[in-house]
Amino acid sequence: MGAIAAAVQACRKRIDAACAVAGRPAGCARLLAVGKTFPATAIREAHAAGLTAFGESYLREALDKLDALADLPLEWHFIGPLQSNKTRPIAERFAWVHGVEREKIARRLSEQRPAGLPPLNVCVQINVSGEASKHGAPPREALALARLVAELPGLRLRGFMAIPEATPDLATQRSRFSLPRALLEQALAENLPVDTLSMGMSADLESAILEGSTMVRVGSALFGTRPYPAQEQGKTP
Ligand SMILES: *Cc1c(COP(=O)(O)O)cnc(C)c1O
Repeated sequence: MGAIAAAVQACRKRIDAACAVAGRPAGCARLLAVGKTFPATAIREAHAAGLTAFGESYLREALDKLDALADLPLEWHFIGPLQSNKTRPIAERFAWVHGVEREKIARRLSEQRPAGLPPLNVCVQINVSGEASKHGAPPREALALARLVAELPGLRLRGFMAIPEATPDLATQRSRFSLPRALLEQALAENLPVDTLSMGMSADLESAILEGSTMVRVGSALFGTRPYPAQEQGKTP
């Protein structure tokens, strides 16, 4: 078995073990493979190992990979920071966007979504780390943004996404992830059509699953240490 196939198997075991600890069924969180900085060949291997959903953060790199892998039936998720002058290719070519954090971006994505495609699946990104993060809607504004996304014809509201600051402290991890969970519950209480909490990465997926994550975004635990450092969020290579 290749290294990536072995890593996919190990990651599924981690997810299932965390689901069991949380009292949730095996496979309770979908595995979104984050291939940023890795070549299309690595994604091909992950697909051969059974994965179908792939996340990318850097637009130019992502579009090259979408082209190189157009022969495979992959579901592409844009998980990077969104700039309003770069929304069109995202609206046209991705199935999901996880980082919607303001109204202007949501409106542009909706307007630019081609009529022949199903609505773009959207998670509203929440800033759960206060000043330690530049990204995400402030928690008190997230529900209003979710209501707007639910109204836009080119978008389909799915739920919330969060990227807490990195910390080895499990209690802090869980407390950060508890916020999106509370917002999802409020959204459900308002009958918003949400079903997704996009949270948890290689280092903290267990805590995220304990707090109700339905989709973990995993890069280095599948593909290895990234060959060049991930750019700071907000910069585009
Ligand atoms: C890079 C990235 C990930 C994956 O991070 P790992 O620590 O490598 O698992 C998940 N989500 C987002 C938004 C990312 O940019």
